[in-house]
Amino acid sequence: MNQNFSRLAQINLSGVGCWLTVLAFVILLSSLGLGWVLNWLIFLITLPFILLFVAFFALRWWVGRNIVEDECPVCGYSFTAFNGIDIDCPNCNEPLKVEKGKFIRVTPPGTIDVEAIEVDVKRLED
Ligand SMILES: [Zn+2]
Repeated sequence: MNQNFSRLAQINLSGVGCWLTVLAFVILLSSLGLGWVLNWLIFLITLPFILLFVAFFALRWWVGRNIVEDECPVCGYSFTAFNGIDIDCPNCNEPLKVEKGKFIRVTPPGTIDVEAIEVDVKRLED
């Protein structure tokens, strides 16, 4: 038990020693009138984190503006896609285009859409 305690104290002391060295370095730099070096170091260390933070929110904003959720005009399957791209419906494989927040069916020129209706047999006999 005594050995464990001394090992823990050693680990803690090594951590404190590191911070004491940093603190001594900071005090030395500011006493020499090199505070601007310290400010630049802090700026250079924090700059990547600030840029990452800004990039994360910019990406979130961009995705929020460009993602579209709609139903396939052919089979009615609801899914999401990015604005302004050509995709295939994951359910029926129909080629679709995303325009103005809606899914539009891409059909070759000359294609005529027909809708099948059920007709009773009795109505045909009349
Ligand atoms: Zn579909």
